[in-house]
Amino acid sequence: MYADIIIKNGLIVDGDGTPGRNADLAIKDELIVALGDLTNWQASTMIDAAGKVVSPGFIDPHVHHDEAVLTDPLLTCMTSQGVTTVINGNCGFSIAPLKHQGRLPAPLDLILDADRPRFSSYAQYRQALEADPPAVNAACLIGHGSLRINEVADLSRPADASELKRMQQALDQALSQGGLGVSTGPFYPPARAATTAELTAMAQIAQAHGKLYATHMRDEGDHVVDALNETFQVGRDAHCGVHVSHHKCAGLANHGMSAITLPMIEKAMKAQDVGLDTTPWTASATMLNSGRHKQATRVIVSDSERYPEMAGRDLADIAAQWGVSLDQAVERLIPAAGIFFIMDEKDVQRILSFEHTIICSDGIHKGSHPHPRVWGTFPRVLGHYRRDVKLFTLEQAIRRMTSMPADRFGIGRRGRLAVDHFADVVVFDPDTIAERATFQKPVQPAAGIEHVFVNGRLVWDGQKATGARPGKHLDKTAPTQVV
Ligand SMILES: [Zn+2]
Repeated sequence: MYADIIIKNGLIVDGDGTPGRNADLAIKDELIVALGDLTNWQASTMIDAAGKVVSPGFIDPHVHHDEAVLTDPLLTCMTSQGVTTVINGNCGFSIAPLKHQGRLPAPLDLILDADRPRFSSYAQYRQALEADPPAVNAACLIGHGSLRINEVADLSRPADASELKRMQQALDQALSQGGLGVSTGPFYPPARAATTAELTAMAQIAQAHGKLYATHMRDEGDHVVDALNETFQVGRDAHCGVHVSHHKCAGLANHGMSAITLPMIEKAMKAQDVGLDTTPWTASATMLNSGRHKQATRVIVSDSERYPEMAGRDLADIAAQWGVSLDQAVERLIPAAGIFFIMDEKDVQRILSFEHTIICSDGIHKGSHPHPRVWGTFPRVLGHYRRDVKLFTLEQAIRRMTSMPADRFGIGRRGRLAVDHFADVVVFDPDTIAERATFQKPVQPAAGIEHVFVNGRLVWDGQKATGARPGKHLDKTAPTQVV
């Protein structure tokens, strides 16, 4: 038998959580064509993976690379950590459909530059992606905040009846054109005035398409319990699956709250379709003037339009240098983004090890000093949290970044190593895998990721991007599952 590529002697971890086994894997064109003892097979490329793990490519269900997939299509920050599929359009903000010209309201300005062309329909965005594809597969949620920016005349109030109807129609159209689901971000100013009923109206459209409602909840700090209840209510009222994005308990006063929120989620899951993801860090990152700095023990400025030289410096140092308060420094620096140390390590570990939690990076690929999660999330889970802290087994860690996100978002024939599945495959060294990105030096490829294939093509060779861009636009193809 003949294949294009055979990966020999590796520890095959299939993504389902079943124990790894030593076997060979064959790829032909864009598919996995055989698994097992392939001694008699021939291939033009043979890779010896003895001592290495062979895993499904990682699926990052929560990133903000909507623009980056077009402007930096090699997306080395993703492929170098083993990610083969990204889901964009999160936190209520997608760059399509978008009619608004000129300066965009924050945080959309963190994702899309003001001078970039607008995609007034999701179909246009999808066409651009398919005409000039990235190295990774890309799916995209449709952002309720973006729909609000398009349709609601005054963002400081709830949508009126005709605006709501237009948003529903626009969402319906975008989901017909390949949007993976709807995302909301009532935490953020453009959507803060949205009522629970307005969010529910969005979820009803997602439900009609059999797709998910993902949310950056209204509050992840003092009112995280209320925000969870609101999210569950939206799901119940719309009969729609709801997904809590980057679950966290922010602010010193809320450290330890995951001991309450996780049982709430577990209880809700018994009655309705609920899921969640999280990042493996105590620091988050978002627009600087989000109010997060009031909850943080430390803030690093990651980007400032007016003071780009401040990127990488502590907000407290900048304020001291200027002789102003933190709030005044924020006002001077914006438009700007920051990294906020707001979580407790115990909460991070409790949320990560909760059996239903999916791993995400929440990365924003912008500025000279991003959060290290942009380059290091998945290796950090497989290195630090799996190997060193021993939060979970190798098989369970991989499951949280492969079959679980695939099942949750309905991405068929990916997230598992199986015959006739697409050949999104990672080969890594389980003993050396680690993030190299740090808060001081955040732009660093990870250690230990040796080969990354997307649709059967090598995109990362262990040292550099190969230049191949075999990524596809992905829509929902399989039923979603409660994970
Ligand atoms: Zn978010």
